[in-house]
Amino acid sequence: MRVTVVGCSGSGPGPTSPASSYLVEHDGFRVLLDLGNGAFGTLQALADPATVDALYLSHLHADHCLDVAPFIVWHRYSGRSRRQPVPLYAPVGADRRLAAAYYGDGAPLEDVFDFAVLTGAPFDLGPFQVQTVRTAHPVECHAVRLTAGGRSLVYTGDTGASTAVVELARGADVLLAEAAHPDVPGLPPGLHLSGREAGEHAAAAGVGRLLLTHVPAWVDRTAQLASARAVFPAAELVEPGATYDV
Ligand SMILES: [Zn+2]
Ligand SMILES: [Zn+2]
Repeated sequence: MRVTVVGCSGSGPGPTSPASSYLVEHDGFRVLLDLGNGAFGTLQALADPATVDALYLSHLHADHCLDVAPFIVWHRYSGRSRRQPVPLYAPVGADRRLAAAYYGDGAPLEDVFDFAVLTGAPFDLGPFQVQTVRTAHPVECHAVRLTAGGRSLVYTGDTGASTAVVELARGADVLLAEAAHPDVPGLPPGLHLSGREAGEHAAAAGVGRLLLTHVPAWVDRTAQLASARAVFPAAELVEPGATYDV
């Protein structure tokens, strides 16, 4: 399994990266985890969008889903899409929310996407076995575990401290975890992880490797890494465009 970072800037696009988006591939099958602001542009430098077999949206905050709008334009008008609806897994209401984001009249998108609602039930997606859990976030958000070829990748989406996310990540080879909050006192619960909390989740779950992501442009990346490494030494910061073998 391989994951390529399309965008990793937390809470919105930054000066050197689009917002959240990760391309995961195994056995010739490609699934895109999130498609945040700016990510569709960079995606085209990394992969032909026609080769994306499915989309997975962890939640419907703008920094995780808004570049679905240019994907729709490309799919309908470029002449390069497969002209088949692309499976899109997302929380309930994604069809209406994305239609409104694309165009104010909210006209249906069924020609572009085959919508599937995330319910917490496991499912198969190409070569991947997929498990999800609700995270601790102000809107419905689903962390995801992808397993294929005996390897597992867990992506937190956005979450505050969560035992459900730790259980989902139990024994995973790679945990791709958000680390949006600086390690300062008084932060709101149920929103984001700090670097230290991301490290604590990785340690509690016994994962092999921790990839830190979703650091906002206004937060010190090196401080996030140092905080995570203090509790989980095998932590790294992801870089836009970088590829990681799982
Ligand atoms: Zn976010
Ligand atoms: Zn969010």
